[in-house]
Amino acid sequence: MTRAVTARTRLIALLGDPVSHSLSPAIQNAAMRAARVDGVYVALRCSAEEVGPLLRALAHAGGAGNVTVPHKEAAARAVDRRTEAAEATGACNCFWQDGGEVWGDNTDVEGVAAAIRALLGRSVTGARVLVAGAGGGARAVVHSLVRHGAEEVVVVNRTHRRAVELARRFATERTPVRVVGSAREVGGGTFDLAVNATSLGLREGDALPLDPATLPPADAALDLVYSRAGETPWVRAMRERGVPAADGREMLLMQGAAAFRRWWGVDAPLEAMRAALASSS
Ligand code: NAP
Repeated sequence: MTRAVTARTRLIALLGDPVSHSLSPAIQNAAMRAARVDGVYVALRCSAEEVGPLLRALAHAGGAGNVTVPHKEAAARAVDRRTEAAEATGACNCFWQDGGEVWGDNTDVEGVAAAIRALLGRSVTGARVLVAGAGGGARAVVHSLVRHGAEEVVVVNRTHRRAVELARRFATERTPVRVVGSAREVGGGTFDLAVNATSLGLREGDALPLDPATLPPADAALDLVYSRAGETPWVRAMRERGVPAADGREMLLMQGAAAFRRWWGVDAPLEAMRAALASSS
């Protein structure tokens, strides 16, 4: 059933470039219908120069929204107040207005924690985790792992310098973050989880982020990438080795649920969101 858009309807927008592939409009519009809140969610392609003024104007006009690649860092600079997750990662994927100030959060941090909990059946506290990648997604993953007290995080990235910067930013005494040059250097022992936080797998014919044949054993595997075409290459490769694996859809869903709570102040209708995601992916 569709709702009428009226003069009171809040405009919630996804800002990024590109945005036309995004599943968030389907998920969030289904969520608003199910929760009976008066909003409409659209995707707006914009440049790095436009994202700050656009998100501020939307928020001050009573709207809110999400920010996606490549503007999450610019968005974090444009807001008045950052949550702890946005401050720590330097990235903002969710904004709204409160008390005249524009707030920014990074709900990817909460989203990935929920996706890992769903996959492992427990939190990552005390876990050894291998992460491929050192971009924006990897920052959310590593911050979440450190925040929840993982025992050790090992990072591999094509550009070594970015992995070293990531380790410096997030390592704590409780959770060391070790950088290795390749999968062969990862060393022994079993990992509780191996995460693909690179963009490899988005395009047909992409290489695997790590060669499963040279990796130490992992109890589970997570891919941040998701595909409308079914299993991602990383998920398929790990499942073929008998490793339970999940793609990025649960993280997408859970970061969206966290954003919904920030905008509307009520719990997100997860089942309606899950159904919308299943029918559009
Ligand atoms: P990003 O900041 O652009 O980082 C991309 C990462 O992938 C970097 O580590 C980069 O390595 C690596 N990479 C790219 N091409 C490569 C190649 N040919 N060979 C080896 N490594 C390569 O992107 P991001 O924001 O972190 O996003 C990464 C992926 O996560 C995307 O697919 C995105 O859609 C997904 N994601 C999903 C969710 C979700 O909710 N499921 C949330 C956030 C992100 P270099 O440092 O060497 O360039």
